Parts: sequence; structure tokens; C-alpha cells
Amino acid sequence: MLDDIATFDWQAADAAYHLHPFSDHKTLHQEKIRIITGADGVFLTDDRGNRILDGMAGLWCVAVGYGRRELIDAATRQMQSLPFYNTFFKTATRPVIALAERLTAMAPGDLNHAFFACSGSEAVDTALRMARTYWITKGKPEKRVIVGREYGYHGSTTLGAAAGGMVDMHRQGARLPDFDHVMPPYWYGYGGQMSPEEFGLYAAKQLETKIKEIGADNIAAFIGEPIQGAGGVLIPPETYWPEINRICRENDILLIADEVICGFGRTGRMFGAETFGITPDLMTLAKGITSGYIPLSAVLVGDRVADVLINETGEFYHGFTYSGHPVACAVALANLDILENEKLPERAARMGDVLRAKLDAALGDHPMVGEIRHIGLIGAIELTSDKRTRRFFEKRGRVGTICRDHCFANNLVMRAVRDTMVFSPPLTISEAEIDEMVARATRAIEATY
Ligand code: PLP
Repeated sequence: MLDDIATFDWQAADAAYHLHPFSDHKTLHQEKIRIITGADGVFLTDDRGNRILDGMAGLWCVAVGYGRRELIDAATRQMQSLPFYNTFFKTATRPVIALAERLTAMAPGDLNHAFFACSGSEAVDTALRMARTYWITKGKPEKRVIVGREYGYHGSTTLGAAAGGMVDMHRQGARLPDFDHVMPPYWYGYGGQMSPEEFGLYAAKQLETKIKEIGADNIAAFIGEPIQGAGGVLIPPETYWPEINRICRENDILLIADEVICGFGRTGRMFGAETFGITPDLMTLAKGITSGYIPLSAVLVGDRVADVLINETGEFYHGFTYSGHPVACAVALANLDILENEKLPERAARMGDVLRAKLDAALGDHPMVGEIRHIGLIGAIELTSDKRTRRFFEKRGRVGTICRDHCFANNLVMRAVRDTMVFSPPLTISEAEIDEMVARATRAIEATY
């Protein structure tokens, strides 16, 4: 069937048999969906021969760009020598050991141990179980509550969705007991008359208020993305994370940094924790760990939690068939070589500033553009109905959806989160490709206005 390109009706078969994630199937097939058939560098190709500039690096993940021979060769070599073996029963494989050693050496602070899974959601689920297991082992089982943030996204397992702040997911049964949420550090949306610095402190102190309400003795962990990606690329003011560090430390609450998007160079440093000065007890990683070429995720565990899990807990009843899959780990090692050899985090910092300057020049004065924000190669353009007052549109999300469709019609992938256009291109993007991206985004915004 895969060879039958000319005559097979792929769109019809998709509509008939395929349920898409995060999609409204009533509207999904109103127009023919595009079948993505190939990719190279920062460009995708589709079944109609279009070259689409991927301003989202897949789903925030293809850090090293498409078509990298090194990753393909690493996967092939590992498949030939050992395609799979598990790490459950007193066994390991060389790629998983090498990757654990390498990740923990790269990571900030004392994150000296690594646990592997397949997706960001599984990594989050694992980190939450570890946090609760830690307190149970320490004789404080009542420390169970996980505090997340509104608009936070921590994946699609039930625990991850409960920790996240997406109300549509809560409505599906993921509003669980022992999960709570505080406001996000979303200055553009909620900052009012405060300066970003004042607002950063204000938003962080909402955690302190929440702790007083629930009691520190009942809280296991606070979980947060350094930058809330799927929530609309909410970049916290500089004052925010140091205050969160302090509040967690003083109240004996574990801090989980969910670096599924921010990890591996996106913010201009290898990890978002370094960019924002976060001192996590646990860190979740996925996406950029293999640049999305093959599923893999990890939880890095700090000494405090690892010591208890290793020396006191006994068996930690948790794991996945594919924890530490050797092919995925081999690809991750080759991917880390590229990130380091090509200094892609530094490149992201540099090219992010180039992209921002060009966006400012093209769109900064546009009446529908309320704010352009970025750090490294992750950013957002806030569309607004009133630039001066930063007003949201009446029916939230409608304008963003229109703009996203105009982007796609202009062969550019950008995502709309409510009416915020978000971008995170591959870290390898060139200046000429940035020019093309800005030109296409500008055409889309003009067409939306
Ligand atoms: N955590 C964060 C911060 C994410 O952005 C995502 C996915 O976008 C996840 C967790 C879930 O990852 P996955 O979709 O690989 O399960």
C-alpha cells in the first residue's frame, strides 16, 4: 500500500480509519488534509509538491533539522547489532548506560541519575510517582499534592493532564484529587499595570499563598515548564524562577522542571533551568533528546531523591517495556554529538535574536500585534484587538485559528494557542530561512487583519 502513491486515496482512508490526536474530527476533513511525504533541513514536503517551512520543528522537537545522516546511521547500526533488549531484570545495554552517563554529566546541579521512558507524558508521570514515592519512603505519605499552573502542559497521561492546567483535559476525567494549580507568569495577559519584574514576583508568590491554603505538609511537589510552551510560550519575567526556588526550598517541596520543550538548546542554553536559574530536584526531558527521530524521554533525578529511591524505597514499582530502548538511546547519543559539535544552543541564542529583530521590523508596529516575545528559538506573537490596552479578542481562539490557516496556506507551520501565534523552528535555521519565515508570517498576519 505504501508504494501505491498514484492511485490510492490517502485522504479518504485517513478520514475513514484514522483518529488524530487533539483534533475535532467533524472539521478535520472539511478540506483535504496534507500528507507530509518528506523533509530536509527546515522544510517539509507534502503530497502536492509544496515546500513547507516548519516553524515548529515538528512539535517543538526536531532540534537538529530533518534528514540528518548521523542519526539515521546510528539507528541502523544499533538495529543491526541489537534492536531491542529491556533493562528490567538485571540487564542493561551499552547505549542506555552511555546515555545515562552523558545526560547526567551535562545536566545542571546534582541531577546525577537518569530513568528512561518513551514520551514526555511518561517522563512526567514517572517524575510525579517518584516525588510521591520519595515522601512515602520518608514517612510522610500525606505529602501528596502536586501543584502545577494554569495553561501548564505536562502531557496526556491522566497524571500529566491533572498536573497540567488545560481545563478541557480536566473535563475528560483528569481533574484528580491532590492536584492543584496556581496562576502562570503570563505578564502580557495578566500583568495589568505591573512591570514584568513586579509581576514575576507577584505570580511566584501565588505559590506561597497556595501553600498556606493547603499546608506545606500536604504538598509533594511543584511542577513547571521553564517556559510554558503549549500554553502559549509564556516566558516568565527574570524575577519569577528564583522566587519559586526559594518558596519550594523553604517549604520543603520538591521542584520538578518539565524541560520537554525547553531542554536541548531551545532557550539558548542546553537546559531551560540554566537560562532561568532553576534548581530542580527532578527534570523531565523528551522531544529534543532525539530531535524527534525516534521516541525517547528521560527523568533526571537529583541526589536527594535518588539517594532515597536507591537506598530506602526498595523496589520502585514503575517502568516501561521500552525504558531505555537501545536504538532510541543510540540516536540520542548521535543527536547530542550534533548539538554539542555544532554548538546549537549558542546558535539558538544568536539566531533567536536575529529572528526577533526581523519580526520586530516587519510586524512590531502592526495594529494587530500586541507583543512579540522570544528567548533563543522559541517565541510568540500575541494578536490583539487593541494594541494599546493589550485586549484579547472577544471570541478567543478564532483569530488565531484563521491566522494559523493563513500561515499554512503560505507554506509556513506556526501554531496558534488561543490568539497567540507560537514558533520554535529547528535550531539549524539559517538567516535566509529566517527571512523566508518572517515574510510568510507577515503575509499570513496581513491576510488575517
Ligand atoms: N511536557 C511538556 C512541557 C510538553 O510540552 C509535552 C508535549 O508537548 C509533554 C510534557 C508531553 O510529551 P509527549 O507528547 O511526548 O507525551
